[in-house]
Amino acid sequence: MNTQARRKLIGVTLDAEPPGGYSAYPWYALRRNYADAIAGAGGLPVALPHDAALAAAYLDRIDALVITGGAFDVDPELYGAGTRHATVSLKEDRTAAELALARGALDRGLPVLGICGGEQLLAVALGGTLIQHIPDAIANALEHEQPNPRHQPGHTVDIIPGTRLAAIVGTATMAVNSAHHQAVAAPGPRAAVNAIAPDGVIEGVEDPAARFCLGLQWHPEFLIDPGDRRIFDALVAACGQ
Ligand code: MN
Repeated sequence: MNTQARRKLIGVTLDAEPPGGYSAYPWYALRRNYADAIAGAGGLPVALPHDAALAAAYLDRIDALVITGGAFDVDPELYGAGTRHATVSLKEDRTAAELALARGALDRGLPVLGICGGEQLLAVALGGTLIQHIPDAIANALEHEQPNPRHQPGHTVDIIPGTRLAAIVGTATMAVNSAHHQAVAAPGPRAAVNAIAPDGVIEGVEDPAARFCLGLQWHPEFLIDPGDRRIFDALVAACGQ
C-alpha cells in the first residue's frame, strides 16, 4: 500500500447481543480479525451500528462496506419463502440495518464484501434465495458447521473460472473454513455463483456488473488460504476507483 495515501474508510457491520455477558444492557460485538484483516490490507475499519435510518449517512462517509456474519438468519419472508425452518433464528434490527446498507451501497456502486451470513444477506439484496437448513435440504452434505476450530479449513471450494473472485485469488481452489447451516439456493437474476463446495453447496456469489460486489460463505478474515488476503487487498484497491 502507499503509506502516504489517505486510508479508505471501510464500514463493518456489528453483531448485536441482548443483555448478559459483556454488559447488563444490549451490546454490539465484532470479532477482532475482521478489523485486523481490513487494516492489514491498508483500509481504515469503522464499525456500523444497527440503525437503518442512518444507512444513507454512513454510506455518504464510507468507501466500502463489509457485511459480517453471525449466529442468526435472514427472515425467510425477505426472500419470498412461505415457511420458516425450526432452526431459523432472527435478529430483525440487524437485518433491517444491513439490508438498508447493502441496498444503498449497491445503488451507489460502493464496493461490498459479504461474509458468511453477510454473503447470504447480500444474496437476498441481489434478489436471491436461501437454503434454510443444509442438512435437511442436501443429501450427503459436508459438515458445513465444521467440528474443528474456525482458524482451520473445513473443506475446499472450487473457484468458478471467469468470475471476479477467480481474477482476485488466481487459483482454481481454496481451503476455507465453514460455519454455516444455510447457503444460497439461487443467486438471483443479477448475480452469479463464484465458488462451490464439493457437495454442490454454493459458497460465493457476485454481481458481475459491479466493480466489487462479492459474497463469500466462508470467513476470509481468518486468512487461512493465500487467496483470503488477496480478497481484502482487492476490496481496498477497489475503493475510489
Ligand atoms: Mn461451507
